[in-house]
Amino acid sequence: MSDALSDALAAFRIALGDDAVLTGNALDPYLDPFAPGDAATHAPSAAVLPRDVDAVRAVLGIANRYRVPLWSVSTGRNFAYGGASPRVKGSVVLDLRRMNRIIDIDQTLGFAVVEPGVTYYDLHRALGTPRRFWVDPPAAGWGSVIGNTLERGYGTTPYGDHAAHQCGMEVVLANGDIVRTGMGAMSASRAWQVFRPGFGPSYDDMFMQSNFGVVTKLGVWLMPAPEGYMICRYAFAHEDDLAQIVDTLRPLKLDGTIQSQAVIESAVRWAAGVSARREWYDGPGAMPDDAIETMTRKIGIGRWNLRFCLYGPQSMVNARRDIIHARFQSIEGATLFEMPYRNASVEPVGGGDRAQVGIPNMEAFNLLNWRGGTGAHIDFSPICAPLGRDAAQQARTVRERAAQFGLDYYGGFTMGTRAMHHIFAAIFNRDDAQQSHAAGALIETLMREFGAAGFGQYRAHLSVMDLAASQYDFNDHALMRLSRTIKTALDPNGILSPGKQGIWP
Ligand SMILES: Cc1cc2nc3c(=O)[nH]c(=O)nc-3n(C[C@H](O)[C@H](O)[C@H](O)COP(=O)(O)OP(=O)(O)OC[C@H]3O[C@@H](n4cnc5c(N)ncnc54)[C@H](O)[C@@H]3O)c2cc1C
Repeated sequence: MSDALSDALAAFRIALGDDAVLTGNALDPYLDPFAPGDAATHAPSAAVLPRDVDAVRAVLGIANRYRVPLWSVSTGRNFAYGGASPRVKGSVVLDLRRMNRIIDIDQTLGFAVVEPGVTYYDLHRALGTPRRFWVDPPAAGWGSVIGNTLERGYGTTPYGDHAAHQCGMEVVLANGDIVRTGMGAMSASRAWQVFRPGFGPSYDDMFMQSNFGVVTKLGVWLMPAPEGYMICRYAFAHEDDLAQIVDTLRPLKLDGTIQSQAVIESAVRWAAGVSARREWYDGPGAMPDDAIETMTRKIGIGRWNLRFCLYGPQSMVNARRDIIHARFQSIEGATLFEMPYRNASVEPVGGGDRAQVGIPNMEAFNLLNWRGGTGAHIDFSPICAPLGRDAAQQARTVRERAAQFGLDYYGGFTMGTRAMHHIFAAIFNRDDAQQSHAAGALIETLMREFGAAGFGQYRAHLSVMDLAASQYDFNDHALMRLSRTIKTALDPNGILSPGKQGIWP
C-alpha cells in the first residue's frame, strides 16, 4: 500500500469513524460477482461509507489532499455491468448505502426525494397500502433508485425510462461544493420536483453516466395508480417474425395505445425464467434450433414473446386491447394470452408481471440457473431504432456470434416511445473458466461489430467501457473532448470515478 493511500485511510477513519472504512476481506462484496475474467482486475483498495453530506465532503477533501481515486456507488448492485467494482484497480469505493433516508413523498404531486441508499423495495414499502402511486422497479428490484437512474436504467411501466422521470438533484462536486439543480437552485424553491429545467442551463443529465459529481439527493416522479390493469402477452411462432412484430408495435407505442414499455423476448430468455437449460439440451455449444423448437412447444411459448400492460378504467383498457389485437392478428401464428382485467389493488404472481404493476421483485435472478454451476451474466446493450429491419439485423448478428462462442441467444428488446434497448445477456457458469472467457470475448467482439455498423451502446460493463465510449467518434471524438474539458474544470485532481464511461482525468 502506498504512503498516500495509508495516510488517506487514516484520515478517513478520523473523519468517519473506524466502522466506516473497510479493507481486507471486508472488501469481498465489492468484487464483481459476474466478472467474465479475473475479478481482481477491478479490485478496490478500500471502501468508505459516509452517513451524510458533510461526511461525503470530508471524504472528497481527503481524496483531493492525497490524490486517491474514489468510485461512487449508491448500493453497488450494478450486476452485469461491474457490480460495485471500480474501473481503476485500487480505487476507494465511496459507498453511499448508509445515506438511506426517504426525504419526502408527495402524494398530491406524485414524487419522492431520496438519498442514494434508498432501494426500490424501500420506496415501494414507504408508499403504503393502498398504493396511490407506484414506483417503476427494474427487473432486479434490490438496487437503488439513484444508482439505477444515474445509469439510465429501465423498468417496464409507463415510467420505465428512469432518467426521464428524474426531477431535481443535489450534487456534491469534487471540490466539496453542494449544487442543487433546476428549481432547487432557489433556496426557498417550492417547485424543485415538478420542473426540471429551472432557469438557465440545465445540468441534471451531466451527472448521469458520468464522473462529474456525487449525487446525494434525487427527486423521482411516481406513477399514479390506475383504476385497474390488464397484462397481455403474445407468442409468435417463427424466428423471422421479429421484423413484423417491431413494425406492428412501433405505431402503437408512438401514439400511446400501449402505455407500458413493450418487451419482446426470445424463447431462451423466456425459458430461462422458468427452467434450466439441461432440461432441453445438455450438449456442447449453443442450443441447437430443434432443441429450441421443442422447448417452446413444451413450455407453451413463442420463438418471440411480447408482453405489455394496459392501464386505466376497464372500458378504456378493453378498447386499447381490441385495437392492438386487430393489428397483431395479421402476423400468422400469433397467439394472444390475456390476463383478466384486474383492480389495481390485486397483485399478479409472476415477477415480470409484478414489475409491470410497480412491485419490486427478484425473479429475474432465475436466469442465473440457466447454464448450471455458479451462474453469471455480462450484458451487451445496443440501442436499436424501432425498425423491423434493424431489430432483425441485430438479433441475427448476436445470435450467430453467440453461437460461435458457444453461448445461447438470451436476448430481447424493450420498446419505449422512440427507441429500443436490445439487451443480450451472455449467461455463463463462472466455475467454467473457458465459458467465462468466452462471454467476455463475445461482448467485445459484438461491440466492435455493432460499432462499425452504427449501433452504439447505452451502457457497458467496466471491461468494455472505453471501447463503448470510443465508438462515439463524430468530429474526432468531439463529445469526449467536451467531457474531458468539463472533467478537468470540475475535478482537476481526477479523484472522482476515473475511467467512468471512458472519461479519464
Ligand atoms: C438479473 C438482473 C436483472 C437486471 N435487470 C435490470 C433491469 O431491468 N433494468 C436495469 O436498468 N438494470 C438491470 N440490472 C442491472 C443492475 O442490477 C441494476 O441496474 C441495479 O439497479 C443497479 O444497482 P445499484 O442501484 O446498486 O447501482 P450502483 O451500483 O449503486 O450504481 C451504478 C453506477 O451509477 C453510478 N452512481 C451510483 N450512485 C451514484 C451517486 N450517488 N453519484 C454518482 N454516481 C453514482 C456509478 O457509476 C455506479 O457504478 C439487472 C441485473 C441483473 C443481475
